[in-house]
Amino acid sequence: MADQTAATLLKGAPLASKICAEIQRAIDSSAVTPCLVNVVVGDNQASNAYLGAIDKIAHKVGVRSERRQLPAVADQARIHAAVSEASGDQSVHGVMIQFPLPKNIDQHRVVACLSPAKDVDGITDENLGTVLAGKKCHSAPATAAAVVELLAAHEQTAPAGKDIVIIGRSLVVGKPLAAMLSASGTDGDATVTLCHTKTKDLSEKTRVADIVIVAAGSHHLLKKDMVKQGAIVIDVGIHAIQDSSGRRLEGDVNPAVGEVASALSPVPGGVGPVTNAILMRHVTTVACPGYLSPAW
Ligand code: NAD
Repeated sequence: MADQTAATLLKGAPLASKICAEIQRAIDSSAVTPCLVNVVVGDNQASNAYLGAIDKIAHKVGVRSERRQLPAVADQARIHAAVSEASGDQSVHGVMIQFPLPKNIDQHRVVACLSPAKDVDGITDENLGTVLAGKKCHSAPATAAAVVELLAAHEQTAPAGKDIVIIGRSLVVGKPLAAMLSASGTDGDATVTLCHTKTKDLSEKTRVADIVIVAAGSHHLLKKDMVKQGAIVIDVGIHAIQDSSGRRLEGDVNPAVGEVASALSPVPGGVGPVTNAILMRHVTTVACPGYLSPAW
């Protein structure tokens, strides 16, 4: 997104650097090298790009990043074995599963093989349940936690007392985020409306919101006329766009929204870098005794 927008850009890099510095200090004073394993089934371009970013930040902070690569034809039992093996490996501190899995695979049964103690992206029923119950969790879904931290990092965007509309009700972003932002206490205390594909008149909801968070996976869904003057807008969406001017990443928010919003998180460079830093923090929390990361 171009920087000529009138809105203040809520860039993720300063916050991600702060989190990385904190993790590096914890790792430097520990005898353990944290290890993150990604279980990958088949070959997916989006997953590869994402894993490249994970490898880069892991290398920077001193986390060992490994892959358990399985062929696209791997069956349910083989994927269960890979997740269970990584979960039971004493030298592994965090385990992630790359989604989507092939259509014939039952995702819920795969997630059930993941140890909640090593579930650094908060996808197990245990960790997700803790968050949905409004309780603090050291392995909350990383993207949702990143949005909360990005909002909390600036006084003008602090959620307490604000009316927030979230577009998207997935278990990885929208739903846990709604629970976190409406929870009582620091970084919460907002009044949250959770919207989805069956929401009646989405614009009517977004136009009165103090903060609009878009996690719909729908390119440029949020338009300028859907946002009130001075609103704060967080763009979670990631879309790889390929056209005559080359390949780039864009979000769920139309760039013209920056003309009316007071603050806007860019894509790339907004929520994404904070999400990756938080994943490293979660792995480090498991690996380094004595280091307890701030809960979500
Ligand atoms: P998902 O497909 O699981 O869920 C999308 C949700 O949005 C659904 O609940 C759906 O009801 C809702 N939705 C879709 N289109 C809508 C519309 N037109 N109106 C209202 N609601 C609509 O997606 P997800 O996994 O939650 O990811 C959402 C986006 O966030 C994707 O672009 C994904 O790539 C991105 N993402 C970014 C990060 C990050 O760190 N920045 C992490 C995870 C996902």
